[in-house]
Amino acid sequence: MVRRKRSTVRFPRKQIPKIFSCPKCGLTAVRVVMERKKNTATVICGKCHLTDEFPLAPVNQAIDIYCKFTDKFNVGELA
Ligand SMILES: [Zn+2]
Repeated sequence: MVRRKRSTVRFPRKQIPKIFSCPKCGLTAVRVVMERKKNTATVICGKCHLTDEFPLAPVNQAIDIYCKFTDKFNVGELA
């Protein structure tokens, strides 16, 4: 009997930077830097340097933080 590895894709522990598009300058240059140790996530645009920091819950993914970031921008709370 051959046991095959489960095909479930697991993300490596190492944080892979994910790039999203910036609500301000429109460029795909927004990185979400998650610092699990500090329970914070920093969102920064490499182009216009729009930056914000969010509390990071264990369940949060980069995309969740990015959503908060765009929401905040859309309501005018970000410069
Ligand atoms: Zn930008």
